[in-house]
Amino acid sequence: EINKETRGFETEAKQLLKLMIHSLYSNKEVFLRELISNASDAADKLRFEALSRPDIYEDDTDLKVVIDFDAEAGTVSISDNGIGMSREDVISNLGTIARSGTAQFLEALSGDQKKDSQLIGQFGVGFYSAFIVADSVEVLTRKAGASVSEGVHWASSGESDYTIESTEKTTRGTTVILHLREDSREFADSFRLKQIVKKYADHIAIPVMMPKPAEKDAEDAESTEQKPEFEAVNDAKALWTRPRSDVKPDEYEEFYKHISHDYEKPLGWSHNKVEGKLEYTSLLYVPTRAPFDLWNRDGVRGLKLYVQRVFIMDQAEQFLPLYLRFIKGVVDSNDISLNVSREILQKDPAVDSMRSALTKRALDMLSKLKKDDKDKYATFWREFGQVLKEGPGEDFSNRENISKLLMFNSTHAESKGQDQSLEDYIARMKPDQEKIYYLIADSEKAAKNSPHLEIFRKKGIEVLLMTDRIDEWLMSHLNEFDGKSLQDVTRGELDLGKLDDEAEKAEQEKREETFKPLLERVKTALGERIKESRVSHRLTDSPACLALDDDDMGAQMRRIMEASGQ
Ligand code: ADP
Ligand code: MG
Repeated sequence: EINKETRGFETEAKQLLKLMIHSLYSNKEVFLRELISNASDAADKLRFEALSRPDIYEDDTDLKVVIDFDAEAGTVSISDNGIGMSREDVISNLGTIARSGTAQFLEALSGDQKKDSQLIGQFGVGFYSAFIVADSVEVLTRKAGASVSEGVHWASSGESDYTIESTEKTTRGTTVILHLREDSREFADSFRLKQIVKKYADHIAIPVMMPKPAEKDAEDAESTEQKPEFEAVNDAKALWTRPRSDVKPDEYEEFYKHISHDYEKPLGWSHNKVEGKLEYTSLLYVPTRAPFDLWNRDGVRGLKLYVQRVFIMDQAEQFLPLYLRFIKGVVDSNDISLNVSREILQKDPAVDSMRSALTKRALDMLSKLKKDDKDKYATFWREFGQVLKEGPGEDFSNRENISKLLMFNSTHAESKGQDQSLEDYIARMKPDQEKIYYLIADSEKAAKNSPHLEIFRKKGIEVLLMTDRIDEWLMSHLNEFDGKSLQDVTRGELDLGKLDDEAEKAEQEKREETFKPLLERVKTALGERIKESRVSHRLTDSPACLALDDDDMGAQMRRIMEASGQ
């Protein structure tokens, strides 16, 4: 046939395929989740498209997924009446690497099988997961709105190429047919399939239909028909529309995997229905692991936006600030217009109020995680702490709440890495201590060996140790916490307030007199390189140290400026 062509997969697709089959072998059943997830996305896209083109429903408005199987032939099929694909869609979606994170994912691969299979866990597995259980896969599809003759048949054995040809397809949407591998025949079974649907796809908002087991002695006439009857095997209700008390933790977890393309469970979630001036439901999640593009300014972020249960767009960024870009979730609003665009979202005052409410929700969720589960919070902090540190500079109104979530390394004996909060520090402050002391250095080692700490050690005063690139910037926006000022121990004249005793102060003045000639000699010798030399009570062992003036730029900041050519 003329329209039949054989095409090679992109090299990346091949690589991905091989790796996936290998690393997911012990968890084969995920293929069904991925294919149902795609069918559900296709239904969402159809509904959205139909807002402006109602005719594409073609009188078939009952959106659903149908799973069928043939135990003898060893096949399983997953059909939907969603948006479908054109020939070009099929080539670009199933023949190349479509998703944005994929290329970065492949760059991150190390060749070490074990490490790489963990990587794949951070990344949705998608359509190709069909090849975990099938040695050949067929896709029959027709785009909504296209004519019957514009159907497409795609087939591949998942090695190096696929065929694509035009065909007739009477119904809109997509059917994926899996020809199961010898070792995966177990999936052509009603009980097994139903069990997987229950486990992974109960939250799917459209019905997932399966053949009803034949009842031999049924009395009604229908059962004598040839074709098997189909019944829904899931609840078919958008998960976020259900009352919180009805949703089980594993349902929340599966839903997270569906919307985030993440393979791991989330650390926590927050599900809320808001009524009043604005009406909306939100379901926010904290992921367990940072995505590859966390530091990429154009990286994937934002929530999935629904308006009155109709899917509108992915990655709606307007609902959360940049420093919470790791949060995933869904927001379903009753107040936003159905034909909203990204541009309109930016100007909508309803979106502004939702954004500030959702920001508070997200911070509350983190604060609850911190209170309830130390280990989970430590994981969160390791993955996303540096992003959260952008918060105090970005969001003045929530500064205090963000500050409570920050974790620091400290000179406190029990501190191992960034595991102390400002509240922990305050609880241990000396009776006369007025300030929170901190030190910024390039590394933990440099921080711990800094001569600036000598006096603090001697007096037993705790100092926070900061070594992240962003810390100086963070501290320039964090002058106070809980009524106490934060003091950089390397800056200016060190004033320990009431912690300095009177006798010491008198001693200090005497010393300043004695060493005046020495100070003058130091200043003459070092000239322009220093601003002044002082007698300090900072030191107990070291003879001298460098200190910054209160308004000087710190070393970190200076290096960033120098690197950018200023
Ligand atoms: P993802 O779902 O994360 O985009 P997949 O590998 O699962 O990645 O799917 C790749 C793309 O193929 C989808 O984005 C979609 O465009 C297309 N696709 C897959 N399955 C279907 C389907 N049942 N109906 C319509 N399009 C589909
Ligand atoms: Mg998918």
